[in-house]
Amino acid sequence: MPLALRSSRIDGMHSGPVLAAPSTRSPVHPNLSSSYRAGPPQTVIIVMSHTATKAEIDAVVDRIEEIGLKAELSRGEERTLVGVIGGNAYAYKDAFSHLGGIHEIIPITKPFKLASREFRRHDTVVDVDGVKIGNDEVVVMAGPCSVEGEEMLLETARHVAAQGARVLRGGAFKPRTSPYSFQGLGESALKMMAAARAETGLKVVTEVVSPGDVALVAKYADILQLGTRNMQNYALLQEAGRSGKPVLLKRGMSSTIEEWLLAAEYILSQGNRDVILCERGIRTFETATRFTLDLNAVPLVRELSHLPVIVDPSQATGRWSLVGPMSLAAVAAGANGLIIEVHPTPNQALSDGAQSLDFDAFDHLMADVKRLLGAMQKQLA
Ligand code: PEP
Ligand code: MN
Repeated sequence: MPLALRSSRIDGMHSGPVLAAPSTRSPVHPNLSSSYRAGPPQTVIIVMSHTATKAEIDAVVDRIEEIGLKAELSRGEERTLVGVIGGNAYAYKDAFSHLGGIHEIIPITKPFKLASREFRRHDTVVDVDGVKIGNDEVVVMAGPCSVEGEEMLLETARHVAAQGARVLRGGAFKPRTSPYSFQGLGESALKMMAAARAETGLKVVTEVVSPGDVALVAKYADILQLGTRNMQNYALLQEAGRSGKPVLLKRGMSSTIEEWLLAAEYILSQGNRDVILCERGIRTFETATRFTLDLNAVPLVRELSHLPVIVDPSQATGRWSLVGPMSLAAVAAGANGLIIEVHPTPNQALSDGAQSLDFDAFDHLMADVKRLLGAMQKQLA
């Protein structure tokens, strides 16, 4: 039977054709956490009317600051939203009721605010120097787990670019489980990534493991990757939030979706709106695969948050033969992108060889992804 397509998603929040959802009920998430149900809402969003003037918006912001709270503006095509952050803003909601230009005051019930769909109805599209992540196109990021040298990096970059990848991945600072494993080539690897960008036009994503390295990595990278082992390194999250660079935030391997979105909140609350979430597998009782890819997270996070979500099937499965099938599943689930480990000779890789695709396997994956996107009436970015 052909796949049924329809052109709107839940609540009309996303655009573009997707696989038909089984029902038109609005989504409910009864068991996410008690904080979704219990307790008074603490934050409010002030929805300005579409005729609100700049002076009216400024007056609302001034009032928020007078009370000692923080205003976070989100200017949409039709309306401006003002998030009131900090303290128990809800208790002050009457402080705004006499001001002009306000359409509605909405309490935010989620513990994460700036990351929530309540705060921003429309999908955030992160623009990495022209490569857009978060719209209806699917972005492929690919490259070696670790940058091992200039030759292998360039060879891989050229290959993945020719197949339609837009972003080159590669670790310069590696957070290895064992201190005796290869730790990455550091700044010289960053220079190699920058050289590969200059030659291929690919954007560069690479991990930063400590707050003190953020400025250095930001000098070379287009996207800062924060790894699973650092998802709750709050000093690192904040420093990345101040870097001025888009951040790829991996889900902690033992973190709940709520903790993950709160980690994103740390970055957003520094004024950085360019957060890309990455589901990369979680720890379960299963040991047959390296982690368990939680694909529930993809559509759920897209309901709960406006942030783009990509999937890393390489870390999640730990087995190269599963990377293709789980990439397709991720795209079918609505992921905004994929990040894939590719190595010219995976059996000689200094890290994660078992989960790395060789060039042939990557070509097959890209052909399959393109076919699936065709059926979904979508395309590669
Ligand atoms: C990686 O991308 O190579 C990596 C170490 O990722 P994660 O933090 O998801 O394990
Ligand atoms: Mn890896």
